[in-house]
Amino acid sequence: MAVATEREYGLYINGELTESAAGDVRELSEPATGEPLARVAMAGEADVDRAVEAARAALGGPWGKTPPNERSRLLHALADALVANRKELAELEVRNVGKAISSVKAELAQAVENFRFYGSAIASIAGRANPIGGSILFYSLKEPVGVAGQIVPWNYPLMMTTWKLAPALAAGCTVVLKPDSSTPLSALRMAELAGEVGFPPGAINVVPGPGKTIGAYLVRHPGVDKIAFTGSTETGGEIMRMASDPIKRITLELGGKSPNVVFADADLADAIPSSVWSIYYSAGQSCEARSRILVEQSLYDEFVSSFADAAGKLKLGDPLDPETQVGSLISNDHRDRVHGYVEAGREEGAEVVAGGERPDGKGAFYPPTVLAGVESKMKVAQEEIFGPVVTVSSFADEKDGIRIANDVRYGLMATVWTGDPARGHRLARQIKAGTVGINMPYTAFPGIPFGGYKQSGFGRELGLETLELYLETKSVLVATGAKPLNPFGI
Ligand code: NAD
Repeated sequence: MAVATEREYGLYINGELTESAAGDVRELSEPATGEPLARVAMAGEADVDRAVEAARAALGGPWGKTPPNERSRLLHALADALVANRKELAELEVRNVGKAISSVKAELAQAVENFRFYGSAIASIAGRANPIGGSILFYSLKEPVGVAGQIVPWNYPLMMTTWKLAPALAAGCTVVLKPDSSTPLSALRMAELAGEVGFPPGAINVVPGPGKTIGAYLVRHPGVDKIAFTGSTETGGEIMRMASDPIKRITLELGGKSPNVVFADADLADAIPSSVWSIYYSAGQSCEARSRILVEQSLYDEFVSSFADAAGKLKLGDPLDPETQVGSLISNDHRDRVHGYVEAGREEGAEVVAGGERPDGKGAFYPPTVLAGVESKMKVAQEEIFGPVVTVSSFADEKDGIRIANDVRYGLMATVWTGDPARGHRLARQIKAGTVGINMPYTAFPGIPFGGYKQSGFGRELGLETLELYLETKSVLVATGAKPLNPFGI
């Protein structure tokens, strides 16, 4: 296949793949097999300095001088390059992250559309003008914020990279992107493709490295004007603190513990398979996974039994097999962490009605797991497990369902299943989440703002709103009166 597993990957700085100054290299292996995958250079502080310098030079130079129509053409060209190289990118992502290729294909399709959306959305970047009183004309200019430091996690490295790059580049910013050190391959390959289609050196720089040192160094770097972060709520808090001196613009896309609320009048032919998908796609390693199912009391037993049956039928295994529905988790350590939550659930009184045991053999596989009889105060109902584990709780009536849905510190996503359209709209208004689906499991589309309420962060991705987060608004005031200005009357 297209992916060269022996390949060495450099850092991508100023339009070139380069070794790290200190010569640091990380050996990557495939989560699904444990086999070696690639050797990747890891950035140190000197490399981040070089990347920021290249980004600043491109901002004041070739990228800053690239007009919007040319930026649009390049974003569309990069989308075309992703399509042309889709097989290689998909395999790279599957082997690096361990997730099923069926999921990666959908993510890749979205990544392509995301570049196209922002390539076209450039046309919406515009100031406004209006005369004020008799002698002042006001107009506003939209200017790029500057150099954007962007930090992405390991769960959707390819898709998250495009969520970050596309709006920043459309707005005219330059980028220093830090992928997770365990999953940098697709971002590095995309940066190479960007260079090939004509993005000037320095517009995009990719510096994989450890978060606590190199990520933090990037956040504090005086040459970086804005930080866009996706990752855990804990790290998001640290980033807020670090970005306060010197003051930087920040946006945070953080964790979730999203409810899937099922009323007794729901159409179960839709609600059951969609609820199964909503937690187990990407093996539950999704910020917006609907990891808490809340079921109206009268439906509870029937729902738990049908859901557990359906979960038990999912195909777990080789992530490169197109029939696989649930691939590997990112690592054995992460699998142990996920299993620790299942054990904690058992100890708190939850009943494991599907999955719940680590399989023998190679790879970080974990079966779709259902914890029933969960109460909202339990640790498994409050903390992000980030694996193929769902909790099921019951609620008495609409008011109780809303109360439990909102009884977490997160607010990223919610899905509601009901045969009563008015109730669906009532819940959409009352659940505190950035996105609410009514009889609709899907979550993120280019053009539709995506982001959090509460401790799931702030700022929005994927929408026109996102462009604003990479732009400054400058007001220009112009005297248009016939008489000379003389404010002191002197
Ligand atoms: P994480 O916070 O540990 O790491 C995320 C990124 O931040 C990585 O690149 C890491 O190297 C870096 N990082 C870690 N510590 C840092 C520091 N002190 N300073 C700067 N950078 C640092 O999160 P994770 O475990 O890799 O990712 C999973 C989390 O991401 C989950 O909580 C998930 O919900 C969240 N997530 C959110 C969204 C969203 O859109 N809201 C999308 C995907 C994932």
